[in-house]
Parts: sequence; C-alpha cells; structure tokens
Amino acid sequence: MSATMYYEADADPTLVAQRKVAVLGFGSQGHAHALNLKDSGVDVAVGLRPGSHREGTAADAGLTVMAPAAAAEWADLIMVLVPDQYQQSLYSEAIAPSMREGDALFFAHGFNIHFGYVSPPEDVDVAMVAPKGPGHLVRRQYQAGSGVPALVAIHQDASGEAKSLALSYAHGIGATRAGVIETTFKAETETDLFGEQVILCGGVDEMIRAAFETLTEAGYEPEMAYFEVLHELKLIVDLLFEGGLAWMRYSVSDTAEYGDITRGPRIVTEQTREAMRRILGEIQSGRFAEEWMAEVASGTPNLLAARRALADHPIEVVGKDLRNMMPFLVAKTPEDDQ
Ligand code: NAD
Ligand code: MG
Repeated sequence: MSATMYYEADADPTLVAQRKVAVLGFGSQGHAHALNLKDSGVDVAVGLRPGSHREGTAADAGLTVMAPAAAAEWADLIMVLVPDQYQQSLYSEAIAPSMREGDALFFAHGFNIHFGYVSPPEDVDVAMVAPKGPGHLVRRQYQAGSGVPALVAIHQDASGEAKSLALSYAHGIGATRAGVIETTFKAETETDLFGEQVILCGGVDEMIRAAFETLTEAGYEPEMAYFEVLHELKLIVDLLFEGGLAWMRYSVSDTAEYGDITRGPRIVTEQTREAMRRILGEIQSGRFAEEWMAEVASGTPNLLAARRALADHPIEVVGKDLRNMMPFLVAKTPEDDQ
C-alpha cells in the first residue's frame, strides 16, 4: 500500500481564492496559515478571543482580526487552529451557530472529528490540511519560495469538491510545492498519537531520564551523563533525518554500530513491543482520547503536577548550566515563550 501524492499541477488555486477564509487561532500553525494564504491572495481573517495577546501581532502583520464567532459567521471556509483540547467548546460556542450549507470546516489534526467531539452538519465539507512541520517552518519555507509537505484527508464531502478545495488550500499555504499526501482522519489521528506517545515524546523523554539516572546512580558526573544521553541525541537525529537508519549506522563508529545491533534489542524487548501494541489499542478504541478529555475537563491536574515534579529533576538543573556554556546554542525555557 503506497500513498497518493499531489503537487502544484493537481491544485486549482482559484477555489480557495473564491472563499472567505477564517483562521481560528494565531499560534504555531495559525500565524503561518493566515499569512501564507494572505500572501497567496486569499481573503483571510483571523479569529481570536478578545484580549488575546496575539491580537496586536496579527493586526501588525496586516491581517483582519475578529472574535472567533464573528470570523466564523463572516467566513465560508473555517480552519480550526486552536489547541485540540479546546476545539470542542470553540466549535459549539463560536462555529456551530454559523455553519451554513456549502461552508467548509478544516482542521490540521483529526482528533476532534475522528473521536466525535465535533460533529458538523451533513451539508458542510469537512477536511484536513495538516502540514508535517511546525508553523514557523511552514511560514519560512513559503517565504523562501518552497513549502513543507502536508497531509490532506476528507471526512465529509458535501459539495463533491471537498478534495479540490483542500488541495487548493494546501496550494495557498505552499504545501503542494513540496507535495501533499492523501490520508484519512482515522489514520492521521491514530498514527500521530502513537508516534508522540511511543517514541517522539513519551519514549524518548522516559529513555533519556532512565539513562541519565542509571549513569548518575552509578557515580558518573551529571555533566557527563547529560552530554551523553541528551545533548548528543541531536547529532543522531540529524543523521536519521538526512538518511534514515542506514545512514546513521554508516556514520557512527563500527564500535557504536556493533553496540547498536547487539544491545538495542535488549532495551526494546518483546515486552516493550507488547506495551506499544497495547498503547496503540488504547488509541484505536478511543480510551486515550476519553482519558485526556476527562483530564482537561477537570483542569489538567495530573499534567500540571507532572510538569512541576519534572521541572526540578537533576537533568534539568545540570542542563540549564551546560546550555549556558554553549553560545552556539540558543538556549530556551518554557518561561521565555510566555
Ligand atoms: P498553538 O498552541 O501554537 O496555538 C493556539 C492558538 O489558539 C493561540 O493563538 C491561542 O491563543 C489560541 N487559543 C487557545 N485557546 C483558545 C480558545 N479556547 N479559543 C480560541 N482561541 C484559543 O497551537 P498549534 O500548535 O498551532 O496547533 C493548532 C492545531 O494545529 C492543532 O490541531 C494541532 O494538532 C495542529 N498541528 C500543529 C502542528 C505543530 O507543529 N504545532 C503541526 C501540525 C498540526
Ligand atoms: Mg459560516
């Protein structure tokens, strides 16, 4: 099974240009979609909560800013780019009242549609255009005349034109310059959650801390441990990014490669693979989504407690000092981003 791909010639830029597009949210994805569409000649407005600190930023960039409900009322294509856990309430309060026959409702991640937290009326197109990269890259690549690849998926094709409209939108944000892959809301949502839980965030985060603790408990200096188990990960990830697993194994020393093939399977064991399958099962059954939405409904107590507890971990303390020793590295903290 191989994915269908679309490029510039497959998209009709006039379709999205005939629409009034509301981009709700002006964060990572929102700012990139709104600005790229505007530069592509699309009539776009940004929907932001009154008093949002991003109002000024959006207006300074020459964008029309409205309250989310007003933007949704004005628009006939609405792209929802607020955090996933707030989309259900945003939809019922600000979007649902102005859904009209022929409107289009777009997402950049399938969570709320796939798990049924948002159920649009049947006479509306529902599609996904999801860039495979963070917003700043989507914006920067567009400005450089290039683009970031994206996924498109159609949940509901009321007009018979939903896919053409999604491809036209993808063209407007620059994604067809790189290539657009067709998928489904189900596949995008389930693989995205699996990736972030098992490897990208959950797996890597836990593995780094466990390795750091193993070295420091055995008496090695925390500075040595930090460099070895966290800092150097970037070098390896860069190799993976450039040439996959084979290029990484080719580029490291033969000693490292031998350690990889003989010790790796002792870390990721049959038990680990079984845990991966169970985690995938919880995602597919909707159990993870239910758990997360219940956590959100009660004010994310577990998330906040874990954040506080992990903030003081020795790897964070030593890491902060070491990053300050490396002027070539732009050190970042969550506080800088507030
Ligand atoms: P973000 O956190 O960067 O930005 C969210 C924006 O929504 C901000 O402008 C915030 O002020 C606004 N907002 C927050 N709560 C709100 C509310 N209750 N009502 C109205 N506005 C509210 O989010 P993001 O990372 O851009 O994610 C947006 C969507 O894009 C999500 O569906 C996400 O899964 C998807 N996505 C993100 C990335 C990424 O790399 N960040 C990549 C692909 C897809
Ligand atoms: Mg409308």
